[in-house]
Amino acid sequence: MNTMIAGKTRAEELMALEDRYGAHNYHPLPVVLSRGEGVFVWDVNGKQYYDFLSAYSAVNQGHCHPKLVSTLAEQAGKLALTSRAFYNDCLGEYEKFITTFFGYDKVLPMNTGVEAVETSIKLARRWGYKIKGIPNNQAKVVFVEGNFHGRTISSISASTDPSSYSHFGPLVPGYVIVPYNDLVALEKAFQDPHVAGFMFEPIQGEAGVVVPNEGYLKGIRNLCTKYKVLMIADEVQTGLARTGKMLACDHENVRADVLVLGKALSGGMYPVSAVLADDEIMLTIQPGEHGSTYGGNPIASKVAIAALEILRDENLSANAERLGEILRRELRAIKSSRVTAVRGKGMLNAIVIAPKNGTTAWDVCLKLMENGLLAKPTHGDIIRFAPPLVMNEEQLMDCVAIIKKTLTEFE
Ligand code: PLP
Repeated sequence: MNTMIAGKTRAEELMALEDRYGAHNYHPLPVVLSRGEGVFVWDVNGKQYYDFLSAYSAVNQGHCHPKLVSTLAEQAGKLALTSRAFYNDCLGEYEKFITTFFGYDKVLPMNTGVEAVETSIKLARRWGYKIKGIPNNQAKVVFVEGNFHGRTISSISASTDPSSYSHFGPLVPGYVIVPYNDLVALEKAFQDPHVAGFMFEPIQGEAGVVVPNEGYLKGIRNLCTKYKVLMIADEVQTGLARTGKMLACDHENVRADVLVLGKALSGGMYPVSAVLADDEIMLTIQPGEHGSTYGGNPIASKVAIAALEILRDENLSANAERLGEILRRELRAIKSSRVTAVRGKGMLNAIVIAPKNGTTAWDVCLKLMENGLLAKPTHGDIIRFAPPLVMNEEQLMDCVAIIKKTLTEFE
């Protein structure tokens, strides 16, 4: 059946299809992509763009990295999925690799970021009952204002953003919210002996790249140790070289008790997420008490090893650190009455756009798109700048020129 409407371009037809047959839970920029390579993507008309979002920091290794493509293709032709009812010949190798890579006793493999978040909350509660001695069903987990941990009922129960939680209740009990970047409030919350864990993002991504004060991460570490609360770092977005270190927690040399990873753990090739912890925590979950049909499948295992090897072998943390400094310096040098803030770490950055003459950050993103660079606004006035980490300096300066030209057009 031909569902195309006459008189529309191919891009318009494709957008109309999504609009007609897909749920309206996203508001994409009006660009239809059909190819990607490294820092570039192309639309259905063959127009080339710099990708300045990297699928929300999943494509840190660049689009269609050849090593990831060949790893995926090779394993897909051998064995894709066994479920965990049986052993497979890839998972153990991956588990050894990733636990050695990050220095934890064990990994629990899942698929999406939010599933890893859920897993970490279950682990914290279970540890709370079995090890900390919290009376059954009374464990609490502390979160911060402005957090983003995904879209399940459990994650939105911790959210302070009404667009995330409104009219999805009743919400999950046992969550406590404290202000971000506030160690005094955190210590007060920890005085409740029923607190099992504290979940936080080392830099708040979806909130608009909110960077806490130097010392916050160390402060969290100290308080978690003092009050016997699990420090749960959600590094789904900040992790894996994005902020200029392999983990954002590495900036303050702190080690979380529970590390939550996703997104770039597959370089955008496949849904792969993971929770890492030591035996005292991980072994509180017994066979049959948690799992996922696809978690730890052979393709995911092979792809994740390759994705981590790329980050390490191509020194992408160092590149992110160096280019991030240049990007923020160049953005701050742009004379624009519209830009009220430039912030970030490594290649996780944002600018804040003041609305003027009826135009907003959305209009700036439309113009950036026209000029060959794709970025997306968050919370109305913030534009995140997070290109793939395989970018070189010449490409970055090209992007700076596009951003400068675009902002000038809004003066
Ligand atoms: N945690 C953080 C910090 C995130 O930024 C995200 C997604 O943006 C998630 C969890 C959820 O990941 P996913 O969309 O893969 O479920």
